[in-house]
Amino acid sequence: MLAELSPALIAEVKLAAQLLASKQRICILTGAGISAESGIPTFRDKQTGLWENYGVEDLATPEAFTRDPKLVWSWYQWRRQMVADKAPNPAHHALAQWQYHAQTSDQQVTLITQNVDDLHEQAGSAVTHLHGHLWRNRCGQCEIPYQDQSRASYDNQGTMSFDKTLLNCPHCDGYIRPDIVWFGEALPVQAWQTAEEAAANCEVFISIGTSSLVYPAAGLAQLAKQNCAQVIEVNPDPTPNTIVDITLAEKAGVILPLLIEEITTL
Ligand code: NAD
Ligand code: ZN
Repeated sequence: MLAELSPALIAEVKLAAQLLASKQRICILTGAGISAESGIPTFRDKQTGLWENYGVEDLATPEAFTRDPKLVWSWYQWRRQMVADKAPNPAHHALAQWQYHAQTSDQQVTLITQNVDDLHEQAGSAVTHLHGHLWRNRCGQCEIPYQDQSRASYDNQGTMSFDKTLLNCPHCDGYIRPDIVWFGEALPVQAWQTAEEAAANCEVFISIGTSSLVYPAAGLAQLAKQNCAQVIEVNPDPTPNTIVDITLAEKAGVILPLLIEEITTL
């Protein structure tokens, strides 16, 4: 498969693999791009972008939910419908394989994601979610987790559909919302602490499929760099990020299986 890439990219993959195989502490940050090959659109995808018909302020802020809870809830139920049949792609599988392999080597591979899908978990990875979970709900008022998670039902053809009716909390009667970090909200304390520690202590930081625009997650690579880590980026459309040492300008589903095969056989 290496032969399908340009000689320059093959050289970069080999360089990255040698670097990674020689280090103990690795921190990986993934974004929407890693799930693109599973058929889940990224936010900034011009053709199929999730924001095509609405602005972010209409759908993913606490103010939007206060203003129009029905619109926000319906949109998330629609997203759940879209993500429900999606499966991990070779990039998710390769990272899970690397973490599995690392258990028997002296490497520590910490995986942090900005994604709210569960494709890393489905592939078998241990992962920290910075921006919450699409499949969990909680009360928008008292914050208590809501047990009936996704309100999915199946018709007699086996097609799944998601009820768009608003739900009320059994404790305080507030509206139920997805357990997702919206723009303007704080990140979960424990997840952010794990991410900061892994970024500050790693020897190599790998950024995969993220436009590096959404802070504070985008600051993790800088934190790693300040602490003398090397930075690798995997993105077919590399970000204008001056702190990157090695750029692997290809799809994650192409690069990661090759990279991980090289690392685990070196
Ligand atoms: P983004 O949409 O801003 O950027 C996606 C990046 O992925 C782009 O730089 C693009 O060039 C790159 N990309 C596209 N296809 C790729 C591929 N096959 N391999 C590697 N890279 C590829 O996404 P973001 O940086 O994650 O930030 C936006 C926010 O969107 C995050 O907070 C995240 O929670 C949320 N989001 C999540 C999902 C999901 O859970 N799957 C989907 C959409 C958005
Ligand atoms: Zn409540």
